[in-house]
Amino acid sequence: MTVNTTVTVRVPAKVNLQLAVGPGREDGFHDLVNVFHAVSLFDEVTVKEARSRRPSPPGGGGSVVAELTAGGGLGSHLSRVPLDASNLAARAAVLVAERTGKGFPVTVHLDKNIPVAGGMAGGSADAAAALVACDRLWGAGLSREALLDCAAELGSDVPFALVGSTAVGTGRGEVLSPMASPGRFRWVFALSPHGLSTARVFREYDRIRPDAPPPSLDPALAGALALGDPATVGAALTNDLQEAALSLLPELERTLGTGRGAGALGALVSGSGPTCAFLVGGGPEDAAVVAEREASVVAALEGSGLCEQVVTAHGDVPGAVVL
Ligand code: ATP
Repeated sequence: MTVNTTVTVRVPAKVNLQLAVGPGREDGFHDLVNVFHAVSLFDEVTVKEARSRRPSPPGGGGSVVAELTAGGGLGSHLSRVPLDASNLAARAAVLVAERTGKGFPVTVHLDKNIPVAGGMAGGSADAAAALVACDRLWGAGLSREALLDCAAELGSDVPFALVGSTAVGTGRGEVLSPMASPGRFRWVFALSPHGLSTARVFREYDRIRPDAPPPSLDPALAGALALGDPATVGAALTNDLQEAALSLLPELERTLGTGRGAGALGALVSGSGPTCAFLVGGGPEDAAVVAEREASVVAALEGSGLCEQVVTAHGDVPGAVVL
């Protein structure tokens, strides 16, 4: 039997097609109805047996993570990735070792293309990838249910990064039910030069909406997804956190307006922001029409001077996969 000494896992970003946020709970979380849609912006997480088995440096991620490095095409975003024990990928490795009693020192490399602190769950994606990679490298043999359980312990968005496709998350977002795949949609994402802390956006939401009703799945979105019609889906995109994100970063209103003005079928702040997502077509539409609309939205956003980077992707795509 060949023993792997390196495992690489590819994991997608998410955009929320609906994010309905209820009132704050006593445990500090909010009840959510979160329609997740996985898109083809990927991080790759590589875990490798560490050459030296000397103890890890303080803050290096516990006894199993010897070194953590990050690279990728994100410009200034990369400097926001912590390379210590607080990194979600390091926490995932430690959790697998604790749960299974298996594990030897590894180096973890993150090849990042998912915006950092951008509302696309990049840290959660890396955590999901590290769970799968460490389980495989160490031969830990965690079941799918056990992996999902570890994922939920690490964060509300982590289970979806394992599963991918399109799914509705309830509870604090971690209880997943798959939704029918809406077919292939094309997306444009406007990355902001700024990050937004998820906790800060929720605090702003609580300030603006002290009497939020319990969240529920929007039947208009569910119907639109079942139809697979991009214009109907675009019109049904909603995010309860958008108002709070716009209150903290008002320039996002102009970013959204720019994409809409250039022909996007729908536009919203992704999750807690500040990345803005534009649905530009797909499903049964003619590919040339979609490509033209996409090019127009990309050009308008790039010319606006509002974005650090503009990237395109499609969805939905599967969750974490071993390469
Ligand atoms: P979400 O959409 O889940 O609220 P986000 O996409 O807005 O999250 P992340 O990219 O997950 O934000 O990062 C949020 C913070 O988590 C970062 O500012 C960073 O300090 C920390 N973090 C921990 N691990 C990672 C990681 N592997 N990649 C990126 N950020 C990480």
